[in-house]
Amino acid sequence: MIGRAERNTLVLAGILFTLSACASVPADCTRGNVRLTQSFSGASSYACTRTGETAFQLTVTPESTPINPSPWYAFDLEAAYPVEVSVELVYAPHAHRYPPRIDRGDGVWDLLPGADVSIEAEGRAATLIVNLASGSSRIAAQEVVGLEQRAYWRDRFAASAWLAQHTIGQSVEGRPIQALFRAATEPAAPLIVILGGQHPPEITGTLALRAFLETLFDPSNPNATLDRFEWLIVPDLNPDGIEHGHWRHNLNQTDLNRDWGPFNQPETAAVRAQIEARVSHGQTPFLLLDFHSTYRDVLYTPPDDLGLSPGNFSRHWIAGIEAIWPGPGSAFERGPNHNPDLPTAKTWFAETYGAPGLTVELGDQTGRDRITALAQTAATALRTYLETASSSAEVDGILSRNLPAD
Ligand SMILES: [Zn+2]
Repeated sequence: MIGRAERNTLVLAGILFTLSACASVPADCTRGNVRLTQSFSGASSYACTRTGETAFQLTVTPESTPINPSPWYAFDLEAAYPVEVSVELVYAPHAHRYPPRIDRGDGVWDLLPGADVSIEAEGRAATLIVNLASGSSRIAAQEVVGLEQRAYWRDRFAASAWLAQHTIGQSVEGRPIQALFRAATEPAAPLIVILGGQHPPEITGTLALRAFLETLFDPSNPNATLDRFEWLIVPDLNPDGIEHGHWRHNLNQTDLNRDWGPFNQPETAAVRAQIEARVSHGQTPFLLLDFHSTYRDVLYTPPDDLGLSPGNFSRHWIAGIEAIWPGPGSAFERGPNHNPDLPTAKTWFAETYGAPGLTVELGDQTGRDRITALAQTAATALRTYLETASSSAEVDGILSRNLPAD
């Protein structure tokens, strides 16, 4: 074992030796025939050191602390010729979490072979060996979904599903907060809110959100029941964090999913204003779903005995999911927790409106085909649930209660 200071000295000596032995290799990571760059939406700007002609060291540091351990990384490797490149990710005091994925320029993300990834120092560092063809490859902790790609998806989805899209506010750095809307046929209707993108690295949540919405609003399988509900959908609530490759926070160093209650941040305040405007026009909050990622596929639900309306939504929805889930095993784990002291979107919704709020969590490493299947199954089961609910006394009650008195 050598100490950290000794190790740093050795690394520095190695850099100096390499650079003096090969004067044509620039010290800057971003220049030369083999380069590491971080200049795209979704990349951070981590300190990079060239430790050899084809070797780099990246210091993976969060935007602020304390913070949940989601050590995101995303960078491009560019080579003028086919070459093997080594990249050391230094996390200390945090630890490696995400197995690296690579897009070799064709838009397809593959996991780097495990044999090419060495986890070191009890996870405080990891070294990746990447065999590159000439050209540019993107390496990241998960698939990179930058702001432009998110805007492209929203535009296409909104057009195909007949949803309107509006800017409902601005992020700390002035980026638009985009929301998708579909108005109910009756003015006083139950309101369903769907959120995503609060935590930038939680890409499996984003993938699930997309597949879920595409199934829910599938234009080839229209469902008049959906028109009885008012829809407010904000897929990308933290555009600054997404743009800058944050681990979790917005640009005010705040976890947005701890701001539902304080509403000190423009991103969360914008959504609340949209909900409140609808409530003041007679609509009734009915359901909130908030898409995230964690270590497994789990639905964090309010307890069944909380007295919310619609009653026992989670139990009915999950039963509907499991009834059509082809397996193997069950679709989602259920984590009934409420945490009234934690100002999350789901808890705020339940506490404020007495309506169910759920966090939909997908595993970081869940197979992408399984994520699509889970999301599609969950959407199909929700359609079925809403069909039943919309002909039930409960929803009729909401509608008649809210009919304007003339
Ligand atoms: Zn999250």
